[in-house]
Amino acid sequence: MAQMNFCPSCATPLDSRMEGGRERRACPADACNFIHFGDFSIGCAGVVLRERADGELTALLVQRGHNPFAGSWQLPGGYAEHDELLTTAVAREVEEEAGIIATVRDLVAFRHSVGGTAGGPSTNVYMIFRLDYVSGEPEFDGDEIAHADFYSFDEMTRIDKLQSLSRWGIEQALRTDPGSGISPELVDRERAGWQLFGLDDIDIAQFR
Ligand SMILES: [Zn+2]
Repeated sequence: MAQMNFCPSCATPLDSRMEGGRERRACPADACNFIHFGDFSIGCAGVVLRERADGELTALLVQRGHNPFAGSWQLPGGYAEHDELLTTAVAREVEEEAGIIATVRDLVAFRHSVGGTAGGPSTNVYMIFRLDYVSGEPEFDGDEIAHADFYSFDEMTRIDKLQSLSRWGIEQALRTDPGSGISPELVDRERAGWQLFGLDDIDIAQFR
């Protein structure tokens, strides 16, 4: 990642100072307390399983239309906005990319990567959720998403360029019972901004 040179708050050239046990880029202006702690992002992807009329199980995949990795297949997903709950983000991405309405059941796997890749964020958490299919048939824009459809596991073995991380997410969902992952609390009340995961068996009213 390129070094940050100017304060994003007041535009003063940044210098470096010890902060929290290590050297960090920081703003020297008296009236500004900006410290650059690094860049962080959260990606999310959805495993949407659906049974065909004959009982065969399928999973939703999308084909990337743009680089990087144009032509490759993956789970629908993308970055969560900074002011968006993850469950909202992944359901939004599934609908935007593939036209499918689905709701989050649980978190089945995640990847944490540090150090960044070319042009990418310096650290990223990529959360793979299992979603329950609700409605819709695959639709895609033909641009950013070149194709979207449900594929059986037999069909997937014949798909060129299926991203290994997506395959792993699907396998992880198949290895575990729906709901046995880390489930989000239902957000059905006035409490904007945060959501707990993994409290299925606890009466959370006692923590409010
Ligand atoms: Zn500043």
